[in-house]
Amino acid sequence: MNTHYTVELYNPHAHIFKVKLEVNKPNPTGQILSLPAWIPGSYMIRDFAKNILNLEARSDNRLLSIEKIDKSTWKTEAVDTSITYEYEVYAWDLSVRSAHFDMTHAFFNGTSLCLMPHGLEDNVCNLTIQPPADIKYAEWKVATSLEKTKIDDQGFGIYQAENYDDLIDHPVEIGTHSEFDFTVEDTNHKMAFTGIHRADERRLIQDISKICQTHCTMFGELPKINEYLFLTMVTGDGYGGLEHRSSTSLMCSRNDLPLASEPQEPNEKYRNFLGLCSHEYFHTWNIKRIKPEIFLPYDLTTESYTRQLWAFEGITSYYDELALVRSKVISVDSYLELIGQTITRVLRGKGRFNQSIAESSFEAWTKFYKQDESAPNTIVSYYAKGALLALCLDLTIRKETNNTKSLDDVMRFLWLNYGKESIGVPEGKIEEITSEVTGINLDNFFADYLYGVKELPLEELLSDFGVKLNLRATTSVDDKGGKPAADKSSTPSVSIGARLIADNIGVKITQVFSNESAELAGLSAGDIIIAINDLQVNKSTLDKIINSYSENDELIIHAFRRDELKAFNLKLKQAEQTTCYLSIVTETKEQKEWLFL
Ligand SMILES: [Zn+2]
Repeated sequence: MNTHYTVELYNPHAHIFKVKLEVNKPNPTGQILSLPAWIPGSYMIRDFAKNILNLEARSDNRLLSIEKIDKSTWKTEAVDTSITYEYEVYAWDLSVRSAHFDMTHAFFNGTSLCLMPHGLEDNVCNLTIQPPADIKYAEWKVATSLEKTKIDDQGFGIYQAENYDDLIDHPVEIGTHSEFDFTVEDTNHKMAFTGIHRADERRLIQDISKICQTHCTMFGELPKINEYLFLTMVTGDGYGGLEHRSSTSLMCSRNDLPLASEPQEPNEKYRNFLGLCSHEYFHTWNIKRIKPEIFLPYDLTTESYTRQLWAFEGITSYYDELALVRSKVISVDSYLELIGQTITRVLRGKGRFNQSIAESSFEAWTKFYKQDESAPNTIVSYYAKGALLALCLDLTIRKETNNTKSLDDVMRFLWLNYGKESIGVPEGKIEEITSEVTGINLDNFFADYLYGVKELPLEELLSDFGVKLNLRATTSVDDKGGKPAADKSSTPSVSIGARLIADNIGVKITQVFSNESAELAGLSAGDIIIAINDLQVNKSTLDKIINSYSENDELIIHAFRRDELKAFNLKLKQAEQTTCYLSIVTETKEQKEWLFL
């Protein structure tokens, strides 16, 4: 028995999809329907049902009564004949997580459009996508990794999913996107780009196919899929990605894409895009198939807690960059710059002393995904510190086993024994498996660095692999680390310990760092600094003025808190050495085996 959805591109100007849902054998005591409160891969309650409008149900041409029983759930009058539901969905969220529809394109995830009939979750789902009625959209076509049942040349027609869980794991793009294909492991891979761009297709194929192949080689195989699809929305300044079982939705800036003139070594922006593709593709194994036990199946009605996101996002973040150098798409120097930037991000936040990455995983729903101005002081990222934990784990395993074992062996074990077998990974199991696979006792390692807040042994481990970890002060708000200071004389010796942005009347504080000068003086996020020692300041003069003073000098800072002018006595502290860059000291056999050189 199938559940059948029909999606109509109803009103692009009002951003409205119309959906028809046919349920053949409804629950005779009253069919219940709901929409997920969150989408797998993005751990925040989003209540997609708030965008459902005008839900109606009919049976034998009779309008049935529907009662809304909570924010995401409806109950239909009891009938024993098939029910046809019709409803509208408001779609104006330009993100990879929900739905967006206007005269330029239509994009949706099933979690935004497809109401789930309770008790029928395991039914095969058909999805019919109707071509747009307006001749203006005659060129539009469909891109999705859903299994095709009966479609026309432009992809309109009937698709099929094994069940509801499968249905919501294939985003759909409809519009005038450009497409190209390449093959990895005998499987077709497609990239579709929506939005105005001039990307060099040949270069993208050359680089991305190498990255995909590197991941497949590491895991030993590509999971069984018909086709893999990279759906990319190109915008002015977008960035983001969401993983799916045989596709990914990406957002990037058009400046991230390579032009025909792109040099051999990717620039920072293109490298970011390659890292994003690499990250989401690695998820094809790690989180889409190797997944926490609690996600099998997903409970999409409420928060789903796990302490394992460090492994699914942190390890993925480690490998997304490692694969760039292993596939020779970027140079070793470029890779070391990336690690240096990640170390910088982690060192700049003191939240790492308040929250372990196991806690950061568990609290993702209310902390990592709902960050405010206190984030650098209160939380740690299970992505960034998780990636560094994975780096330390890999280097520890390599060091202790004379490079006969590595994190690669652990990931292959997880794929073969959990992911490929559709067995969920229990909490704490990855730590046990890592010790079993490598023969090393890692109890203290995980107690200190995963469940505890001890500083990671980065300097010592990198040094064992011929790499020196260097620290310096931050030179500007744009200084992401990863490189030595461009001009040594510009490195400040003092700092006020706050993040600042330009404001119409002065300089606005966006964050103050724990126990540094601004906080000790009483300044807070939101304050607008207008003068230092009675002289007016703006964003372009402030750094220069502060740098003209020395440690322990006292400044009188005038700032507005809301609309009240306040004076603050600030004693300057030495600038913290939290910006990191790495350099190769010696080339070693172990280093070459780690980076595939
Ligand atoms: Zn991810």
